[in-house]
Order: sequence, then structure tokens, then C-alpha cells
Amino acid sequence: MAIIGAGPAGLSAAHDLALLGFKPVVFEIESVPAGMLAIGIPAYRLPRAVIEKEVDVIRALGVDIRCGVAVGRDISFSQLRREFAAVILAVGAKSSRSLGLPGEQGPGVFGGVDLLRAVSLHQPVPVGREVVVVGGGNVAYDVARSVLRQIAYDTARTAARLAGTSRVSLVSLESLEEMPADTVEIVEGDEEGIERLNGWGPVAIERDSAGAVTGVRFRRCLRVYDENRKFSPIYDDNQQKVVPCDSVMLAVGQAPALGFLEDGGADVEQFRPGWPKVDAATLATTAPGVYVAGDLAHGTRLLIDAVASGKAAARSVYQFLTQRTLTKHAVTSHLTLDRYRRERGYESLRRTPVPLAEPAERLHHPDTLVETGYTAELAMREASRCLDCGVTPVFDSARCVLCGGCADVCPTLCLKLTPLSELAQTEDLRAAIAEVLGDEADLSQHSAILKDEDRCIRCAACAMRCPADAISMERVSYTTTWSTQ
Ligand SMILES: Cc1cc2nc3c(=O)[nH]c(=O)nc-3n(C[C@H](O)[C@H](O)[C@H](O)COP(=O)(O)OP(=O)(O)OC[C@H]3O[C@@H](n4cnc5c(N)ncnc54)[C@H](O)[C@@H]3O)c2cc1C
Repeated sequence: MAIIGAGPAGLSAAHDLALLGFKPVVFEIESVPAGMLAIGIPAYRLPRAVIEKEVDVIRALGVDIRCGVAVGRDISFSQLRREFAAVILAVGAKSSRSLGLPGEQGPGVFGGVDLLRAVSLHQPVPVGREVVVVGGGNVAYDVARSVLRQIAYDTARTAARLAGTSRVSLVSLESLEEMPADTVEIVEGDEEGIERLNGWGPVAIERDSAGAVTGVRFRRCLRVYDENRKFSPIYDDNQQKVVPCDSVMLAVGQAPALGFLEDGGADVEQFRPGWPKVDAATLATTAPGVYVAGDLAHGTRLLIDAVASGKAAARSVYQFLTQRTLTKHAVTSHLTLDRYRRERGYESLRRTPVPLAEPAERLHHPDTLVETGYTAELAMREASRCLDCGVTPVFDSARCVLCGGCADVCPTLCLKLTPLSELAQTEDLRAAIAEVLGDEADLSQHSAILKDEDRCIRCAACAMRCPADAISMERVSYTTTWSTQ
């Protein structure tokens, strides 16, 4: 079968199909495989050698990855459908979205992911000295931090840029608290000298009489989301300002490019332009033998979602081609661990932060890793904090005497005893209570133990404290196997 796109979705589909006995061919427009891992995520976060090793493993299974082949240009979609038994579309969403602002079209305005691609492929990077990045998410930070490194690197390397003022501003609609970027990106961006402006929405790109960008006009954003957390910004047009710059990077989302469907893909229906209609269970499109995986199937998410979706598409293609059913078998087993104990002082061990390069050092070269990684000693220390989350306290309500001892000794305060009458009476809860106590029970006379799973560190202090032996530590294991029928 043919897979279009060698990103994490396409490669994981190819990996699984190869293991199922097929010989998938992956067509990739870029000169390198791995999609956004190789041309989006900056090398200062993800070393390219790691990706190459992963791809080598997939190639070793017999997967044929043909780089530098654009479907729609070098080979048509109709040809793929004629020559292959099935096709998986795993082309991701690699076009930068635009905002339709006055002045947006023309030199000096770039798509964020286009900039990242150019940096990754060591192509000339068209940044000036004063750059405004529009966006408040992780991609905006990847763009701003890459631009910062590029300016620093070019300044150090060539006489083409004179040392002196340069500025990278990241302007986001959201307040600092609401920004979608991970905190670590915001903190490291601040450390590296990115000027962050929160609560401003772009109005226009300003240009001089020769057409060169001179700045971006913004207006105050008073609110981004409504009461239902729906994107619904409100602006104050009376508060405006121009951030001077010579280049603008737009990092406000990505969209897929499905132009190749024009030749041979008329039966691949789209629910809105650029996004195919997909059966959520099978990842099938409306066209027979054509499946979808990754960002194109579910919208932009994390790479692990793309991997999971590639694997699901591989299973559907297998079933489509062999007419056999793949059935999942999940087995859950519980093993009671008598006298389970954690290491002495376990509950007071603090997280060991991953060591980072100094901010100035990080800018020496665009590929310099920010996270320098644990030493062996630090790695062992951090590993000793492992929650061993397969182990969990299990409560036996028949034995519990409601003494509250477990809650008293819990170091993270994750247990709470509360009368049943104080709990929100959802349908599920009502059914569970009725099963144990019948329909007529006086709820104020019965209690529940609430456990916050996010806070439980599986230290076993509750099990050790329980005078009635009502709490046992159990190892819960899940095994999944697949069989064909
Ligand atoms: C800048 C950036 C940073 C990110 N950082 C993270 C992160 O830190 N952690 C995380 O979990 N996720 C991150 N993500 C998200 C993650 O990278 C994506 O969700 C994931 O790569 C999607 O996988 P995919 O295979 O669906 O698409 P992609 O990775 O986009 O791969 C699609 C492939 O299809 C190819 N292609 C497209 N059209 C054609 C055609 N016509 N012919 C042939 N080939 C074609 C493309 O060149 C590309 O290689 C990031 C995304 C971006 C953009």
C-alpha cells in the first residue's frame, strides 16, 4: 500500500503494516523523513540523530521511504490509487494559517512553520533584525526562539549583520495566565530575551512607501474566551499601538494542503475545505481504500496522537485488504502486595529539574541543546521518585471502620472522608450507592472516601496505618494482545 507523508503518523502506519507482512511504500515531499519532528520541532529541543535512529528501525523492517517525491507533482493521486491496494493520507497540516490582515501579503511576512522548515533544512532564513512573532502557543515559541538563535548565530558568524540592536517580540492575544504555550517555553523564552507582549490582537501590518514592513499595529484584547471557554475575543479599539519591526512571523495555526486530491480524489469528501470526512472508528474516508491518519485525521495535536492514529489506520487497512477481523484482547490482573513499602524518605523527595544550558550558551548555535540532560547520578535520583503507578491502594469498604487514619497520615492530603449526602448526586453515583445500600438509605449516615488520583504518590502510608486491614496495595497490570479471525 501507499502512504502519503513520512511524519509520525505515516511512519507508524508503515511500521505496523510491515510487521503485519505488507510492503508499504511511503512517499515524502521533503528530502528527509519524520515530518514535523524533522522540519518543525527545532533541533535545540529534538536532536536530529535521535530521529534518524528511529527511522532506521522502520526502514530495517522493509519499509520503502521515498523522499523528495511530492504526490500531486511527481506522482498523481490517481496513479497511486491504480497501482496500490490502499492509500493512507498522512500529510499532516503543514501550511501556516494566515490572518487576512491589511498589509499581510508581500515581502517580510512569513508563516511560522515555513520559517522552522527553512531553519531545519539549513536553507537561507529570511529574518531581519527586529522580528514580531504573532501567536501565543508552543509553535510561536519555537518560531521566536529559532529566530533569536538565527540572529545571534548570523551576527557571530558573518559581517553581513552588524552586532547591535536586534529584538524578537512575541505578541499574544491571551494574558500570561491564559497563554496556551507550556510554562517551560514561556520561562525559557523570557530567559533568552524574547520580549513578550500579552493581551494584544493584530490589526494590520504597516509598510513604508517602498512596501517594506515597518511594524505591526495591535489593539488591546480585553477578553479572549467567553463564559463557555469558546474563542470569542473582545477588543478595545481605543487602545492601539504599533510594534516596530522589519519582519513578521505568523504562528496562529496550521492547515492541511490537499491539492493533490484534484487528480483522482473527487470521492474523498471534505467536511470543510482541507479536512476530509473521516470515520472516527476506522479512519476510512468516503473513498474506498483511502484512509487518513495523524493531524489530518484529528486536527493538530501531539506527535504521540499521530503515532496512535497511524497504528489505528494500519489495522483498518489490514482488515480492508484481508477481509479478516483484528480483535483486541485486554487482560487486567490484580496482585496483592503484602507488606509493600517505599524507600525511606520517598515521600519528601523533590523533583530534580533537568539541567539546562545557560541562556547565553543556548544561543551559540541554533542546534545547541537547551536541556543538557541528567548525569547518571541525577537520573538515578529522579528515577527513585518513580510512582510505580501500576501499584495502587485498594479500599475494602466492608472492613473500613471510618476512623480517618488513612487521611491523617497521607503526606499529599489526597484522601478525604465525607458524608455521602455531601456528594453531587450524579446518575453513576446514585446507581453505585443503590447497588450497595439500596434505594432508601439515609445518605447522611454513610460516608465515602474520596481519593485524588493525581496527588496519590503510592507511598502505602494509608495501608500501613489502617487498623482494620481495609487497605491493600495491589499491582494492577494490563496486557493487550490482538488476534485475527
Ligand atoms: C513547530 C511544531 C512543534 C511541535 N512540537 C511538538 C512537541 O514538542 N511535542 C509533540 O508531541 N508534538 C509537537 N508538535 C506536533 C507534532 O509534530 C504533530 O502533531 C505530528 O508531527 C503530526 O504528525 P503527522 O504525521 O500527522 O504529520 P506531519 O508530521 O506534519 O507529517 C506529514 C508529512 O507529510 C508530508 N507531505 C505533505 N504533503 C505531501 C505530499 N503532497 N506528498 C508527499 N508528502 C507530503 C510532509 O512533508 C510531512 O513530512 C509540533 C508541531 C509543530 C508544527
